[in-house]
Amino acid sequence: MNWLTSIKTLGDKIKRNFRKKFPSKEEIENSKWQAKNCCNSGPILKEDLQKNYYQCTNCFTTFPLPPSERFSYMFGKNNYEILDTPIVGDPRLLSWEDASGKYKDKLAKTRKKTGLNSAISVAYGKLTENLNAVICCSDFRYFGASISQDEGESILYACDKSIKTGSPLILFAMGGGMRMQIPSAVSLMQMPRTVLGLSEVKKKGIPVIVVADSVVAGGISASYAATGDFLFFEGKKTKWMFAGPRVAANASNTEPPEDFLEGGWAMSHGHGDYMIEQRKDTKDFLVKFLNIILKKNLSSIIDEESIDNINETTKLNKETREAS
Ligand SMILES: [Zn+2]
Repeated sequence: MNWLTSIKTLGDKIKRNFRKKFPSKEEIENSKWQAKNCCNSGPILKEDLQKNYYQCTNCFTTFPLPPSERFSYMFGKNNYEILDTPIVGDPRLLSWEDASGKYKDKLAKTRKKTGLNSAISVAYGKLTENLNAVICCSDFRYFGASISQDEGESILYACDKSIKTGSPLILFAMGGGMRMQIPSAVSLMQMPRTVLGLSEVKKKGIPVIVVADSVVAGGISASYAATGDFLFFEGKKTKWMFAGPRVAANASNTEPPEDFLEGGWAMSHGHGDYMIEQRKDTKDFLVKFLNIILKKNLSSIIDEESIDNINETTKLNKETREAS
């Protein structure tokens, strides 16, 4: 063995030992422990996190809630229909390749891992006996819940279902933005398309509610997530941003506060309509809110005098509109 081979062997040995000290991506995914610590309460068991709808009981950070669990929580287990949203799959885009490999291979792997064909799943069902809804929910495991053609189609399909059934549309917005693994123009095109879709639902007088979930960034915060009738935050630590905190702070040339670009910070700057502090309250809050704006089951939520006030205000608003 010459001196060059000895150095190479030693290098390989160091590399192997180094790798052993850090778990692989698969090991982290299969571990019982949550990979990322959110606060100083120490490591969290995934099982404990799941019991509290993937929200830390200490600092109330929310972690992405998979669509199947979101739908079971909102509609009740197996009490909803997953809509068969269109898959576009343009072969010219699928042949795209970058330094880390072919997009179509990554897509096939992601689809196999998640069992989904789009980062956004759409479900239709009953929130309560007489309140139906169409719900969109993103899966973070699917390219960080980024938006491309198939996701744009999912949102448009949800808008169509909402119009056909006259049901409120609830979008749990999450993700890092528009997917750049394929030619970016096609992904960016989904920004105006989804905004136009939501606008068609609103034109019919059907409420469109956006709930910012865990992290909303890039083109998502600059398109459909910002154009609902109402914007609610789920958890005060939910991030709402276009660029990341470092880039945004540099652009404004100021020292950002600790909660910069978090839901609580956004709300204190007039962005958003309500903060749902704990995810376990999301369903109750949305049902109550929809019942009030749709004027359903009001007597179970508020007293007679408040109902009279709502009716009087609606009448006045209608008269004002007609007079103008
Ligand atoms: Zn925490």
